[in-house]
Amino acid sequence: MSAYSIGVDLGGTNLRAAAIDDRGKMIEKISGSTHIKEGRDAVVNDMVQAIDSLRKRIPGDLAGVGIGVPGFILIEKGVIVGSNNLAPLENYPIRDEIEKRLGTKVILENDANAAALGEKWIGAGKDVNDLVLLTLGTGVGGGIVSDGRVLEGSVGMAGEIGHITVVPNGNPCGCGNTGCLEKHASATAIGAMARLIGLGADLTALDVYNLAVKDDRRAKAIFTSMGQHLGIALATLINIFNFPLYLLSGGPLPAWDFFAPAMIAEVEKRSFTYRNAPTRIEKATLGNEAGLYGAAYLPLLHRH
Ligand SMILES: [Zn+2]
Repeated sequence: MSAYSIGVDLGGTNLRAAAIDDRGKMIEKISGSTHIKEGRDAVVNDMVQAIDSLRKRIPGDLAGVGIGVPGFILIEKGVIVGSNNLAPLENYPIRDEIEKRLGTKVILENDANAAALGEKWIGAGKDVNDLVLLTLGTGVGGGIVSDGRVLEGSVGMAGEIGHITVVPNGNPCGCGNTGCLEKHASATAIGAMARLIGLGADLTALDVYNLAVKDDRRAKAIFTSMGQHLGIALATLINIFNFPLYLLSGGPLPAWDFFAPAMIAEVEKRSFTYRNAPTRIEKATLGNEAGLYGAAYLPLLHRH
């Protein structure tokens, strides 16, 4: 019987857990809601229950559990220290508590870091050992995989690419900075730009994309702006890492043809490395399953 592990993706709205075997094949997945309004204990109970029900049904050795969470974490302590969506879980020993209740190894990781690892394991990055993933959503998540492992930094807060400055004195961000990438290139930022230029009050990134498809000049200008800001961030990343692969995922991806030309032009302009070294900037392939795969891969990686 082969070994498997369980990956958990704990979001502000959705709680998902999947059992995945050690070759990256998904055996079973559970999807539910995150009842954050009911408090910390309700969320922890739901997680333990989801993991336990998978474990009871699946034969084989459970190698461990990986949990991806949105926010800043302390990896050694297994604690969330800052999360807009999961504030009641901040500074609570979530990893140790779940480990204790289940009696199995648990690893806590930032969700974008987990997604980057998932893409490396069985997604768009499986042929490389080094990559960066940007997830474009409510914010912009970032994950850096170096030599096949997540680059954690000293406490687990490395890869916060969404909070690097792309516009001096730009839009204020919840992190305390102004002009963060996520305030100028996330799905939310696309909606905000649409509102700002009078395109519509409550447009989603998909709405703006549909307008761009109809050749709306202002909708197309929004994607050009988004592409430029992504390009500034990518040029910086390419200059730092000289990695072979940079991936984008998230809701705005269908608008690739509208934002990518401005993005690539900006990277070409700003990065000598890009102009002189083979570098791919591509779409990620696992979508929102990437985090589940990456979370499940964590206990397998740390087994050795
Ligand atoms: Zn920020």
